[in-house]
Amino acid sequence: MQIYADHAATTKTSPAAIDAMVTTMRETYGNPSSLHSAGQRAAELLADARARIARQLNCEASELIFTSGGSEADNQALMGAARRGAAQGKKHIVSTAFEHHAVLHTLRRLEKEGFEITLLPVYENGLVTAEQVRAALRPDTCLVSVMYANNEIGTIQPIAEIGAVCREAGVLFHTDAVQAVGHLEVDVKAQNIDMLSLSAHKFHGPKGVGALYLRKGLRLDPLIEGGAQERGRRAGTENLPAIVGMAVALEEAAAHRAENTARLIPLRDKLIAGLSAIPHAALNGDAVQRLPGNVSFCFEGIEGESLLLLLDDRGICASSGSACTSGSLDPSHVLLAIGRVHDVAHGSLRLSLGEDTTEEQIDYLIRTVTDTVAYLRSISPVWRELQNGTRPYIIQ
Ligand SMILES: *Cc1c(COP(=O)(O)O)cnc(C)c1O
Repeated sequence: MQIYADHAATTKTSPAAIDAMVTTMRETYGNPSSLHSAGQRAAELLADARARIARQLNCEASELIFTSGGSEADNQALMGAARRGAAQGKKHIVSTAFEHHAVLHTLRRLEKEGFEITLLPVYENGLVTAEQVRAALRPDTCLVSVMYANNEIGTIQPIAEIGAVCREAGVLFHTDAVQAVGHLEVDVKAQNIDMLSLSAHKFHGPKGVGALYLRKGLRLDPLIEGGAQERGRRAGTENLPAIVGMAVALEEAAAHRAENTARLIPLRDKLIAGLSAIPHAALNGDAVQRLPGNVSFCFEGIEGESLLLLLDDRGICASSGSACTSGSLDPSHVLLAIGRVHDVAHGSLRLSLGEDTTEEQIDYLIRTVTDTVAYLRSISPVWRELQNGTRPYIIQ
């Protein structure tokens, strides 16, 4: 059996999105900035895609800036808000310890430039609260950035409540909603969001395209200087085929969201129950406040990396929170943020389900992960020490 269980890393591009992209490439190759008819046809298609995406977020078309993806949207939001804050003498930013690196590494750069960063600690269940945000605000706070749903452990933050706290305090609120858009209800007005990042390839759109929602009236220095595209907010000829593909994929995701969610949650919970039966295993993140497709576990006494490789041999594409993939031996900052100790964090596994995941696949996943964990433990010196009592179990 072949199972793709890594939808949080990326998703298969929707056939309808591919068709729309190919058609756009063949037929609408003009530059949207050109005044001639070929350019104007492209500009019309661009405006249409913008309006369709805006409708899904409950914003105005003019409030969307197309980007090269989620990372660029995050960078633009943070760098822009920081510059704006500095101009007002405000150089304090509030975020959380378990953000995506696109946010964390941008904050690290801002810290070097003299900004003060407060990273809120995350509770053991993978959640932060609006109260924590409120308590961290200062008169010189220029920005709060809290992710909507975490990409590793799938936990969903109280975005509307955090938005209300920020709006009341008059502080800009950005959310990295890359894991949420297409999967959860998003309404930037109702949720008091000032800036929101999204990325098409996380909802069956193409890679290399995304958007930043920037609330009307907010003016940020552009990250990319050049032409006057995107109302002077992001230079560069628009990637029209990808933008059209993103609009198609987002509408599709929205149209099927209720049914997908209703189908995925029982599958997710069956997988969680099945893997919970493995001795000395623990679910990462809240069991309820989590993405419909996210299952994340730590297994004591094994290496997540070895588990991934063996699972791949057995037809399963999954992911591990341990960052060995990125050439570093540090365990995932997300798992550390929820209080997992290094040894335990190294034995992590993320299975992220998608629209085409079947119950048969869930059964195979439970069986295969259970067997593979048992096998890895049978050859693990750490497991032997745990078993003979020379090392205490951390996960009971
Ligand atoms: C994937 C992801 C990103 C990065 O998006 P890209 O389009 O790949 O640059 C940012 N934040 C989160 C939460 C993500 O899951």
